[in-house]
Amino acid sequence: MVHEFTCIVCPVGCRLRVDKGGEVSGHKCKRGIVYATEETTHPTRMLTTTVKVNSRVAKRLSVRTSRPIPKAAMFDVMQALATVEARVPVNIHDVIIHNVAGTDVDIIATRRLAT
Ligand code: SF4
Repeated sequence: MVHEFTCIVCPVGCRLRVDKGGEVSGHKCKRGIVYATEETTHPTRMLTTTVKVNSRVAKRLSVRTSRPIPKAAMFDVMQALATVEARVPVNIHDVIIHNVAGTDVDIIATRRLAT
């Protein structure tokens, strides 16, 4: 199976192609090879979303993963996020969930809420 997709590592946006043998073409630099190989073997994504929070000024707290998570784990992570309620005060980069869904990745706050 041949995979074709756009490299999102930089704004150039090269059109990458990975053939059946894993050979990458269409890249203008080595980062495209790394991206294409990861995308076809173990794709990952950063997740940005919100969770419930017990604040008086906001109902939701914006959060993100501390680093990209496997796409295959996305559903389990979203389920874990649906059950959590963050507690104020919260500062940017506070860990809201440690090792979410066993991914070895944390969910961290991207907003400060004092009350
Ligand atoms: S292959 Fe290199 S130049 Fe092309 S989009 Fe990816 S990072 Fe940018």
